[in-house]
Amino acid sequence: MELQLVGKNALVTGGSRGIGRAVVLALAKAGATVVTCYRQDGEAVDSLNRELKEIGGEHALVRADVGTAEGAELLLRECRDRFESLDVLVNNAGVISQIPFAQLPFEEWERVVTTNLTGPFMVISKALPLLREGSSVINIGSRGAMAGIPLRGHYTASKAGLVGLTRSLCKELGGKGIRFNVVAPGVIDTSEPDELTDEQRAAYNERYLRMMALGRFGRPEEIAGAVLFLASELSTYVNGETLHVDGGV
Ligand code: NDP
Repeated sequence: MELQLVGKNALVTGGSRGIGRAVVLALAKAGATVVTCYRQDGEAVDSLNRELKEIGGEHALVRADVGTAEGAELLLRECRDRFESLDVLVNNAGVISQIPFAQLPFEEWERVVTTNLTGPFMVISKALPLLREGSSVINIGSRGAMAGIPLRGHYTASKAGLVGLTRSLCKELGGKGIRFNVVAPGVIDTSEPDELTDEQRAAYNERYLRMMALGRFGRPEEIAGAVLFLASELSTYVNGETLHVDGGV
C-alpha cells in the first residue's frame, strides 16, 4: 500500500489560497491530475499556476463560485471534459464569519451556509456520475463544529451540517465503494479573512494557543497531509470518519 496518486484524478474546491492551495499541491506532487477553483483572479491564482507548472501535469484552475449552481456546473463541466471518473473530491472552499447571534442578519447566515454546506451539496451531487468504486470524498469541516464557538454559530452550524451529510452519504453510497470522510482542522495559519480587530485577534490567539497541546497553530500542509492519507489507498477502510487535525485541543 502506497501514499501515491499517479494516474488519479482529483477535484479540490477553493484551491487558490490557504488549506486548499496546500491540498492541491500535495495531490499534484503525489501524482494526481488536479482541477481546482477560486472566485477572484489575482496573484494567488498566478502563483499556484506557476507552482503547478513546476510540478508538471495537466492541471486546471477554474474561476467558479461553488456557492452557486452555475459555478458548480462550470466546475464539473471542466471535470467531465477531462476525466472519465473522479478518484478524489475535496470540498474545501469555505468562508468564516464572526458575529454575535443577536445581531446576525439572515443574509450573513445564508452567505455562510450557502458556501460551506450548500456548496458541497451542489458539487457532490453534480460529481456523483463521475464517482466510482474506490473514489474518496473528503469534506473540510472544523474542530469548532462539535465544540461550538461563541459568535460563530452560523459557521459551526454549517460545518456540523457537513459532518451529518458526510456520515449519511457514507451509509447511502458505501455499497458502491465510495468513501466519505471529514477532515476537521483546528486553528490553521492561513489567510482566512475574518472581521477581527487587532485587539480581538490578539485575545483570540492567546485563548486558542493555550488550548493547544502542541502550543502552536497548524500549517496548511499539515491539513494536506491528512487529506492525502484519506485520498490514498492507505485509508481504504476509513469511511464516515471525522479526522481531527488540531494539535491536540
Ligand atoms: P482561505 O480563506 O485562506 O481560502 C479559501 C479558499 O477558498 C480561497 O482559495 C477562496 O478563493 C476559495 N473560496 C471561498 N469561497 C469560495 C466559493 N464560494 N467558491 C469557490 N472558491 C471559494 O481559507 P482557509 O484555507 O483558511 O480555509 C479552508 C477551509 O478550511 C474552509 O472550509 C474553512 O472553513 C476550513 N477551516 C479553516 C480553519 C483555519 O483555521 N484556517 C479552521 C477550520 C476549518 P477566493 O480567494 O477567490 O475567494
